[in-house]
Amino acid sequence: MNCLTFVPTKNGQATKAGLEAVSYAKQCGATVTALVVGELNGDGGAGAAGASKVLHMGDNLQDEGQIARVVAAAADAEGATLVVAPHDHIGRAVAPRVAVRMGAGMVPGVTGLLQGSEVKKNVFSGKAMAHVNIETEKKVVTTTPNAFGVASDGAAASVEAFAADAGEARLTVKGFEASSEDGSVPLPEAVRVVSAGRGLKGPEHWGIVEELAQAMQATKACSRPVSDMGWRPHHEHVGQTGITIRPDLYIAAGISGAIQHLAGVNQSKVIVAINTDPEAPLFKAADYGIVGDAFEVLPKLTAAIETLG
Ligand SMILES: Cc1cc2nc3c(=O)[nH]c(=O)nc-3n(C[C@H](O)[C@H](O)[C@H](O)COP(=O)(O)OP(=O)(O)OC[C@H]3O[C@@H](n4cnc5c(N)ncnc54)[C@H](O)[C@@H]3O)c2cc1C
Repeated sequence: MNCLTFVPTKNGQATKAGLEAVSYAKQCGATVTALVVGELNGDGGAGAAGASKVLHMGDNLQDEGQIARVVAAAADAEGATLVVAPHDHIGRAVAPRVAVRMGAGMVPGVTGLLQGSEVKKNVFSGKAMAHVNIETEKKVVTTTPNAFGVASDGAAASVEAFAADAGEARLTVKGFEASSEDGSVPLPEAVRVVSAGRGLKGPEHWGIVEELAQAMQATKACSRPVSDMGWRPHHEHVGQTGITIRPDLYIAAGISGAIQHLAGVNQSKVIVAINTDPEAPLFKAADYGIVGDAFEVLPKLTAAIETLG
């Protein structure tokens, strides 16, 4: 099976979510060609993750409709019956357009390998798993970030220039404004997340959250009321109406654990809840619980982690 994997890059290197998509395709048993549109250094890391070849189109395309045309053309040129893209902001916009162009069945946000024509994905906010049969010969899937990991044992991939008619742009991006400048890993890709809620009582108390996050090299998150009240920026809001995360470790302080919050965090591998109320619902979803005052527990955790060096 030939697979074309769309790999977004940042500063010429494949994003972690993009590399996960490559490793996913390789684990599915495919011969993987990665497609990079935009800046690329070397093979961008795609070879180590499992790609045998990288197709590179240097144009800095921003219109997802144009990128989709290029992805579909590359899939056609490679005789690919499977197209994989990461389920990130760009893959989510590109993949459905590619599926339409290829006449392919598509499953977004898969959490299991494609076996034959069957693939798994989470449904009902992670409370159930659907086994989906893709009936078409050509298939398109997007991979849930942090669900598969990135392989690193492959050899460097050959890089070939690729050209295709991307058509007219229907939109242009005038500029980018970073919503976070602290250099932390974006929430969907974060391996460790420290999150806090209304129990912190005000934005002036976020220093203890930031110190723990810094000590653990974690990304910060918050509950929805906290961002609604303007205590924290909206890009930190996790949950049903915010960002869905899947880190190895999720520490939640002063968060009750409402169902809408859990919908975005319950795929975390290990959940630690810190709450003064032993009946807080989050304790039922947590792997470890600390019944205690966040104002005492968070600084102690930070100090303990700092002693580890
Ligand atoms: C349609 C809809 C969508 C929603 N989407 C989301 C969403 O995406 N994400 C989301 O988070 N919410 C969402 N909500 C809101 C959700 O229902 C809850 O209201 C919200 O998650 C509660 O936030 P919280 O846990 O920070 O606050 P609270 O529910 O007020 O909980 C605060 C917790 O802090 C504890 N606490 C107090 N003091 C301390 C202390 N000193 N130390 C430790 N613990 C302390 C309390 O015991 C309590 O458990 C949504 C609601 C609706 C209706």
